[in-house]
Amino acid sequence: MRIGLLLLLVIFLNACQTTAQAHERLVAAFDDATFSVAPDRLGQDRIQHNSRLSRWNNDIIYSINFEDGISGQNTNIIHKSMVKFNDILPINVIHDGASERAINLTIEIKQGEKFLINGNQQADCYAGFSANEDSQIEKAEVVISIKNLNGPNACLEHELMHAIGFSGHTHRIRSILSYFHGEKSLTKWDRFLIETLYSPKLNAGMERDETLIIVEELAMKQQ
Ligand SMILES: [Zn+2]
Repeated sequence: MRIGLLLLLVIFLNACQTTAQAHERLVAAFDDATFSVAPDRLGQDRIQHNSRLSRWNNDIIYSINFEDGISGQNTNIIHKSMVKFNDILPINVIHDGASERAINLTIEIKQGEKFLINGNQQADCYAGFSANEDSQIEKAEVVISIKNLNGPNACLEHELMHAIGFSGHTHRIRSILSYFHGEKSLTKWDRFLIETLYSPKLNAGMERDETLIIVEELAMKQQ
């Protein structure tokens, strides 16, 4: 959720760090992105944590809705991003036009610069998901204003990261989940985060401590 100013110390990857430090940083970035919850109120940086890993077990069937009903070329921008996620994830990401199955991810494109979410919060990019008692994500929604679909403030892939289970943000690595690195599309580190969250060695509902031990093993294999 791109609301408010998140004041966090940014630690950049630098050339002189050891391989072990780089691996530790990846594990910490995964921890930030997966088990921290993004601040949800303007100006508040209260810390919230998820205790368990959430992710999809079923295929994602997505719909796209433009508030003004006119999509034009913008639909293709969204499909392109969905293809990227489909290629990385072990589950399928399918447009509802190509599936008979029920929609479980809605992508809503608003016309105005800002919109209201959760009653009275102003946002220009938003994502949320709901999970069952086993922490399996069953439904998600992404809402963005049309001006943020493309260009300097593009946030679609950032919000899609939230929608697949990354509740938090991380600024330790060049990630689309960072506010500070200015990435507009998935990086190789985002690919690592996604592949790790959806590794067969992890499961929805897994506790944080247990998860991070396995993430450490996976990070060691990362070049
Ligand atoms: Zn966010």
